[in-house]
Amino acid sequence: MVTVTRKIVKIDEEKCNGCGKCVTPCAEGAIQLVDGKAKVVRDELCDGAGFCLGVCPTGALTIEEREAAPFDPEAAHEEQAARGVQTITESCFRCGNKETDAVLFPCRYKGSSQWVCVRCLPPLIHG
Ligand code: SF4
Repeated sequence: MVTVTRKIVKIDEEKCNGCGKCVTPCAEGAIQLVDGKAKVVRDELCDGAGFCLGVCPTGALTIEEREAAPFDPEAAHEEQAARGVQTITESCFRCGNKETDAVLFPCRYKGSSQWVCVRCLPPLIHG
């Protein structure tokens, strides 16, 4: 198998609590819950962009640089098609607004990763 040195998501199993919040932001389908822990199931599905990092409440996700199969966009597309849409409905940590009713942004707040809605974001920024 051809490998390259590149950035890819690393998951600290000790820190992972299996909440599954990182599964939805991974558009490529690289992260799945296996036996209650998040796993990068196939290196070629992870593009290393790190959109999953901001949603992890425990800091289990980081980006590392290592030898891995190159990112394969076609394989990611096939994986998405095979798995179908998988979503976990998120809600604003301040008011409970669900992502089905409001735009939510990932943010870091008091040392943890949270989702916040557009209405609650300005008070966080301006106090
Ligand atoms: S968001 Fe973090 S704690 Fe939750 S499943 Fe993913 S890696 Fe584990």
